[in-house]
Amino acid sequence: MKVPFLNLAKLHKKIEKEIGQAVKKVMRGANFILGEEVNLFEQEFAKYCGAKFGVGLNSGTDALFLSLLALGIGPGDEVIVPAFTFIATANAVSYTGAKPVFTDIDGTTYNIDPQKIEKVITKKTKAIIPVHIFGLCSDMEPIMRLARQHGLKVIEDACQAHGAVYKSTRAQGARAQEFKAGSIGDAGSFSFYPTKNLGGFGDGGMVVTNDQKLAEKLLLLRDCGRKSKYEHVVLGYNSRLDTFQAAGLRVKLKYLDQWNKMRAYNAKIYDNFLENAQNVIRPVGADYSSHVYHIYAVRVKKRDKVVEQLKAAGVGVLVNYPIPLHLQQAYHGLGYVKGEIPVAENVCREIISLPMHPLLNKTEIKYVVKVLKKAAED
Ligand SMILES: *Cc1c(COP(=O)(O)O)cnc(C)c1O
Repeated sequence: MKVPFLNLAKLHKKIEKEIGQAVKKVMRGANFILGEEVNLFEQEFAKYCGAKFGVGLNSGTDALFLSLLALGIGPGDEVIVPAFTFIATANAVSYTGAKPVFTDIDGTTYNIDPQKIEKVITKKTKAIIPVHIFGLCSDMEPIMRLARQHGLKVIEDACQAHGAVYKSTRAQGARAQEFKAGSIGDAGSFSFYPTKNLGGFGDGGMVVTNDQKLAEKLLLLRDCGRKSKYEHVVLGYNSRLDTFQAAGLRVKLKYLDQWNKMRAYNAKIYDNFLENAQNVIRPVGADYSSHVYHIYAVRVKKRDKVVEQLKAAGVGVLVNYPIPLHLQQAYHGLGYVKGEIPVAENVCREIISLPMHPLLNKTEIKYVVKVLKKAAED
C-alpha cells in the first residue's frame, strides 16, 4: 500500500470547476498585477484572521522580512527566534541586517519556550518571532507580556497555522478570549506555499495586522516604494501577491475551516491508534490553542531507521526538521555549538512527520500506524 504524504491533486479535483472559473476571470480581465482579486483576498483573509488589514506578498519569507523592515528592524538589532523552525524565519531577520538569536523550545509543544526568552533579551533586542509550529499556536500571552515589558515588537510566524485559534485564559477573572493565529502580535506573517493548509498554485504570502501605519508601509515596501506610478518614496521591493494566486486562494479560503477540521479528525484517528504504541510520542497539544495539524509529528528514538522502514513500506514521510537552525551551516558564523540549545537538538533527532492532509482516510492511517509501531518496536 502507498500512502502519500500529501495529495494536492486529489484535493484540487474537488474544486477544479471553481478554480477554472476564477482563473478564466483573471485571464479575461487581464489585470495581472495587483488586480482586484488581490485586494478582495486581502480583505477576506484579514477578516478571517480577525485583523483589520492584510497586505498580499510574494511569499511567507517576504511577509516576515518586510514586517521586520516596516517595524524599523535593521543592522545592530537582535531578533529572538526559535531554533526549531523552517530556516526562512531566521533568514528574514538576517536579510534586514539584524541578528537572529536562537532560543530553545518547549519539548512538548515544539514551540518557543517563553521562559527561555527573557534570558536572551539584551539591549539590542528589538523583536520576537514566535513560530506557531506544525499548526499549534505558541503561548502568546507570556510572550506578549514580555514584549510589552521590554518594548519589543512581536511578529507571529503563522506560516503553518492558518486558522489556528489561541485562547487567552489567564486574564484574571475574565472569560477566555479567542484570537486567530496572526492577529495577536504587531504583525502576523502567512505563507501560501502550495503545501500549507491554505496553499496557492505557486508562491504567495500575506501580512495581517491591526496597525494601519504598518499596513501602509508594507504596501509601499511590496511595490517598489511607489506612492504613484513613478514616484518612489522609500527603497521598495517587488513582492506583490500574484493576481492568479489571489483568485485561487479566494476559492480555497472558503474551504479552509472544513479542511482544517478534516485534518483534526485525522489527527484524532492517529492519536487513538497510537494510544498504546511503544516508543512513539504523539503530539500533545496545549490547552491554550487549537491545532490545525499542518504537520502531524511523532517522536521515536531510532528515527532514521524508522523513517527508512516507513519509506520502504510506501509511506510518505518527512523530517521537519533534521537540523536546528543554530547548527545550520548557513548560520555557522554566529558561533553556536552543539549542545547549546538542547531541547531543539533532541527534537531534531527524534521527530518524524507522518502523512497528513484533509483527504487522508482511516485505512491509510491504520496502515501507517501499523508500519510505524512495528518499526519503533525493534
Ligand atoms: C513555509 C514557511 C515559511 C516561508 O514561507 P515561504 O512562502 O515558503 O517563503 C516561513 N516560516 C515557516 C514556519 C514556514 O513553514
